[in-house]
Amino acid sequence: MRLLWLLNVTLVAFASALPKRYDNYVVYRVTPQSEKALESLRSLNKYEDVEFLIPLTKVGHTAAVLLPPQYQNIFLEEHRNLNDYINVEVVLQNVQEAIIDEGLRPESKAGSFDWDYYYTLDDMQKWINGLRLKYPNNVEMINLKTYENRNLTVVKVVFNPNATKAVFVEAGMHAREWIGPAVATYILNEIIHSSDSKIVELRNKFNWYIAPVVNPDGFVYSFKDRFWRKTRTPVTKPSGKICIGIDPNRNWDFHFGEGGEICNDTYPGPYAFSETCTRELSNFLLNIPEKVQSYIGLHSYSEKILMPYSNSSEHLDNYDQVYKIAKEAAKVLKGVNGEDFGVGTAAEMLPQGSVVGASMDWVKEKMRVPYVVTYELRGKDFILPANQIIPASIETLQSILYSVKEAEHL
Ligand SMILES: [Zn+2]
Repeated sequence: MRLLWLLNVTLVAFASALPKRYDNYVVYRVTPQSEKALESLRSLNKYEDVEFLIPLTKVGHTAAVLLPPQYQNIFLEEHRNLNDYINVEVVLQNVQEAIIDEGLRPESKAGSFDWDYYYTLDDMQKWINGLRLKYPNNVEMINLKTYENRNLTVVKVVFNPNATKAVFVEAGMHAREWIGPAVATYILNEIIHSSDSKIVELRNKFNWYIAPVVNPDGFVYSFKDRFWRKTRTPVTKPSGKICIGIDPNRNWDFHFGEGGEICNDTYPGPYAFSETCTRELSNFLLNIPEKVQSYIGLHSYSEKILMPYSNSSEHLDNYDQVYKIAKEAAKVLKGVNGEDFGVGTAAEMLPQGSVVGASMDWVKEKMRVPYVVTYELRGKDFILPANQIIPASIETLQSILYSVKEAEHL
């Protein structure tokens, strides 16, 4: 009996060490065409493991849902019963296959770094440390801390020690949005190595701060569960039930929104800056000696450039100037590969409407940074094949270079 118990414990421990599998899970884009269809889709939430990757909001608005195989018949049956009152498009037919084909760096590439694969946090930090050793006068590696005591790395790139202005690039806030850290490291590499005259000019005018993964605990966990979004801090309900993780982009001290179901993917935390990573990063930001002129957040997906504010449709004090630059930056981006990015305030552009506690709004309000935007990068899902890292990086970099230059005198 005891042996059996031991065997069982070992099996459970072994199973939890393996990545979660998504065999035959499907991602659908769904657009309810009636209130009844909306209700029917909403009722999917009662099933275990069903997740709306783009939130379901109202009739006529497109959402995305991740469905385990056992609920697909129920879903399709309901869809048929409603006589096509729900528009449905398959985004990923078999999520597990998409994960396998996504392009995680193979074992043979351990210890190297490039933009043909997705790399682990450890690979990334080793690469950054290599840059620091190679360019001690230009590259500084600042390690903040997380709840699980990992390094939250901010890289400072200095080519002109007399520069009085800075640019900050933040990525990897949401764990599963892997394209963000990949693009951020590409930008870092270009800022250091490029001989392009535009880049040389901007690295001499500004010191660059690049934080490729600001939620390292969540990012590491997303290699075990590809759809993980939050941090890894445990939260206990009064009932004693424990849920893991807080949405770090709802945890900033800007109109912090208390409450919410603790197990939800957008749970903001018990109080503003309850998370070690957001607290450490915000303290770091407040102590940057240069004037931060541009702050760029990289998220995915939906192909948008979002401006503050996220919580209300109130416009910025310099809305017209920021909008003009962001709109042109979207044109520059489109000029590279033809990807069409929408531009507007987050409150106007996000399907879920107003959002509180986001880093972008805090940076705008507390640091008075003149140009603050968040990119929702390319793709139709969080799983974006690695062969799109370089095109996504080039279009984003060109767009950012344009806006940083234009925002110099805002
Ligand atoms: Zn995000």
